[in-house]
Amino acid sequence: MAYRVTLIPGDGIGPEVVGAAVRVLEATGVGFEWDRQEGGLVAVELHGEPMPDATLDSIGRTRLALKGPLTTPVGTGFRSVNVRLRQRFDLYANVRPAVTLPNTKGPFKDIDLVLYRENTEDLYSGIEYFDERNQIADSIARLSRKGCERILRFAFEDARKRGRKRITLVHKANILKVTGGLFLSVGRQIAPDYPDIQFDDRIVDNMAMQLVINPHQYDCLVTTNLFGDILSDLMAGLVGGLGVTGAANIGEDCAIFEAVHGSAPDIAGKGLANPTALIRSGEMMLRHLGEHAAADAVAGALLDVYTEGTHLTADLGGTTSTHDFGEAVAARVRERVGASASEAPAQL
Ligand code: NAD
Repeated sequence: MAYRVTLIPGDGIGPEVVGAAVRVLEATGVGFEWDRQEGGLVAVELHGEPMPDATLDSIGRTRLALKGPLTTPVGTGFRSVNVRLRQRFDLYANVRPAVTLPNTKGPFKDIDLVLYRENTEDLYSGIEYFDERNQIADSIARLSRKGCERILRFAFEDARKRGRKRITLVHKANILKVTGGLFLSVGRQIAPDYPDIQFDDRIVDNMAMQLVINPHQYDCLVTTNLFGDILSDLMAGLVGGLGVTGAANIGEDCAIFEAVHGSAPDIAGKGLANPTALIRSGEMMLRHLGEHAAADAVAGALLDVYTEGTHLTADLGGTTSTHDFGEAVAARVRERVGASASEAPAQL
């Protein structure tokens, strides 16, 4: 049986990192039927629209996508297609692990954190006004009780599945009394349903500092959309940068897997991008599909390549190209498939 997956290479470094991730996933022997679709700047050039109907229809059919980054022009132009996709398919849970690999340049060793970011509400609701006469700009941070409840329950359930012990809710309820207050109060209501998981909370600015000074004291974080966006990039910095952090956007009956990073126009088309982030997103997709042996093979192959340290991309001080890095990991996956992996690599 082959899994039908919508494949969106995207723009910038997207086609390079997606190509490498696809080779690694195919090396597992799991069958995939890729429905290749356009999105982002490539689609604007071809169709005048960054998210064509054909792409949306494909995800509507497959309910599963692997996607490269899509550029969103800053300040003006199209609304973010990434945000539109998450809202259209109600992908309310954005899961962003940050796990240290050997030979990476992060400031700490042995980081193993998971961030759960609410993915459809808050300042990303798209409710914005500009009062021309008075030159006043408003962006509304809308949260619903339902939205808070479902991301918080998701975080507790997922943390439990991963055998995690603690969740820290991150908020700004001291200032944002209404939105932050709602998120925190729902968290406090739900936490007693999960007595096996320790629950506490931190104000976001303090959290940012604590993560930089002593990240090992934390386990899982759950937070609202904008704080999650910012803290997950910060966490990527703790483990070697945006080249190594994968992510999943999960809804009730649909999921899209993509890296934390964007289209990196500064290095696009040069073979410099690190595809590890998208490979790890692919590993998360395999686990989502219940293909745990294949996911373990990918995790183990990455661990092999990083431990060896001879195939590193430029962001980590190496000279290996995006393509060759993908090939090195795919070769290790092929070696591992069928063999029972003795080590237990960190799960994404
Ligand atoms: P970015 O993540 O694209 O890049 C930030 C820095 O990290 C750059 O120096 C880049 O070279 C580096 N980097 C990123 N990914 C890397 C990789 N795989 N390997 C090596 N280095 C890597 O962030 P940005 O520059 O702020 O955003 C560029 C565009 O991407 C914007 O239009 C933004 O809206 C978009 N974006 C899209 C997504 C998405 O599609 N999910 C996410 C974030 C940003």
